[in-house]
Amino acid sequence: GLLLLWGAFAEAEYIKYKDPKQPINARIKDLMKRMTLEEKIGQMTQIERSVASAEVMKKYFIGSVLSGGGSVPVKQASAETWIKMVNDFQKGSLSTRLGIPMIYGIDAVHGHNNVYKATIFPHNVGLGATRDPELVKRIGAATALEVRATGIPYVFAPCIAVCRDPRWGRCYESFSEDPKVVQAMTEIVPGLQGEIPAGSRKGVPFVAGKTKVAACTKHYVGDGGTTDGINENNTVISRHGLLSIHMAGYYTSIIKGVSTVMVSYSSWNGVKMHTNRDLITGFLKNTLRFRGFVISDWQGIDRITSPPHANYTYSIHAGISAGIDMIMVPFNYTEFIDGLTDQVKKGIIPMSRIDDAVKRILRVKFMMGIFENPIADESLVNQLGSQEHRELAREAVRKSLVLLKNGESADKPLLPLPKKASKILVAGSHADNLGYQCGGWTIEWQGLGGNNLTSGTTILTAIKNTVDPSTEVVYKENPDSQFVKSGEFSYAIVVVGEHPYAETQGDSMNLTIAEPGPSTIPNVCGTIKCVVVIVSGRPVVIQPYMKLMNALVAAWLPGTEGQGIADVLFGDYGFTGKLSRTWFKTVDQLPMNVGDRYYDPLFPFGFGLTTQPIKP
Ligand code: BGC
Repeated sequence: GLLLLWGAFAEAEYIKYKDPKQPINARIKDLMKRMTLEEKIGQMTQIERSVASAEVMKKYFIGSVLSGGGSVPVKQASAETWIKMVNDFQKGSLSTRLGIPMIYGIDAVHGHNNVYKATIFPHNVGLGATRDPELVKRIGAATALEVRATGIPYVFAPCIAVCRDPRWGRCYESFSEDPKVVQAMTEIVPGLQGEIPAGSRKGVPFVAGKTKVAACTKHYVGDGGTTDGINENNTVISRHGLLSIHMAGYYTSIIKGVSTVMVSYSSWNGVKMHTNRDLITGFLKNTLRFRGFVISDWQGIDRITSPPHANYTYSIHAGISAGIDMIMVPFNYTEFIDGLTDQVKKGIIPMSRIDDAVKRILRVKFMMGIFENPIADESLVNQLGSQEHRELAREAVRKSLVLLKNGESADKPLLPLPKKASKILVAGSHADNLGYQCGGWTIEWQGLGGNNLTSGTTILTAIKNTVDPSTEVVYKENPDSQFVKSGEFSYAIVVVGEHPYAETQGDSMNLTIAEPGPSTIPNVCGTIKCVVVIVSGRPVVIQPYMKLMNALVAAWLPGTEGQGIADVLFGDYGFTGKLSRTWFKTVDQLPMNVGDRYYDPLFPFGFGLTTQPIKP
């Protein structure tokens, strides 16, 4: 009897770190005391989902799994399928000695963009044009719900790059060339994570429960300032320039409790950011008092050397010593784990550095509440692509549109267009292409053309939905002038732009619109009255067509809710968007000079004509 009683007592042994009533600091301290080196290094390791399994999670104490741009896309999977995958990895983590839950991370950079039938919001360049931080916060909240609907608690967003050169292939991931606009848009962080409680200590990461996600501001720092806009290149700028321009969004997002920060592949004045101890440990952790964790970029430590992975021992040392806490390995995790373990055992990397990293990772995990709720439930699955979120995306599209030209003079505006006309022409490569309108980071890393990638409304469909039933809508992708002339159209809407791209593949030195757009515009606009809608991730070369076009709208990369464009073209709503970027005349004008953006542009930063909605 006594023995049995003793057994029951031992069973119920009080484990402090598992007690949610304990302060997080006490839980971290208690858990750290129990952890072996192996368990600690496992927490610092993030692996790609294709090499992950319950067994691997358990055997190596892996702290995190990801789907990245470089992952094979999970095509047309339901929310339930995602949950099943995530939960399976989690079961491996929970079956370890200490049962520390893993966190799954994903690039949800304009909605939950890897997932079939999710709501795809405009890319950041368009959100910048809304100048509406409260809207962007609501988008963060909707994105968090859709991400949680698939069992995922961590997103690699927002990108708070200050893109200074549109030749950069990631310019559309940047809210603006203006640091103040980027700062304002960090309101997406409390949208994603929840509002930090009043009186919180500065720099403490925050995630408010099961309907929110941990955010990640990226890419620290200076990613948007590289020479000639070349991706992952060198940012040559003074310390003052770096801090006043590129650091802008970090100041505000850290105050708002951002949980993690991702390091940039780029260099600052020749020093790879992944080795920059002064900026990561010195500035971010010590000066700004950031208490969340710092994550590397995908194979970011490999790319410290050129060619990548040329000296992995050095890369591990340089990256961890700089202050990176979690390494997005993502495939060769045993090499990373063995290499780091060896350097700690030899005393080359001090145990205090490992402890700093693990405490930060655990803090974020405790904050997320995943020790209490590690297994995703299916109660949120109906949030994915919900009508409410699509309405929100549609609102964002409307507010992101920038009207650059409207008729030949202010007293003869062409927009809003009449809904009732005998016959109208819709033309251009981007008029009926959902994939083009979503851009990169949609279902696939580089994006996809066509209408089958996910569900949404193309601009053509939106126009058809909006015009009077008596109006005939003729669609021809690339009509010649003869076709246009003989059609007796009241007016035309021409939608052209860039094809999807992501990262380095999007670097462009000429910034032209995709073929056959450059001939579609003169064929149509040289013949009849036309509105041109540009679907692009950045300003593109349009000066040669300015005189031909009767009206011009920048639609950026609007995402799945093309209806927002028709809403404004036909006057159900007015145009309100303002350029988040200077629109150049020719690429020779690039880059813009630091502190001097008004260099005789085609359209200055902040430009945008307005229209009044038509009262029904
Ligand atoms: C990008 C990051 C992204 C990561 C994971 C990298 O190539 O630079 O922005 O979060 O991949 O997909």
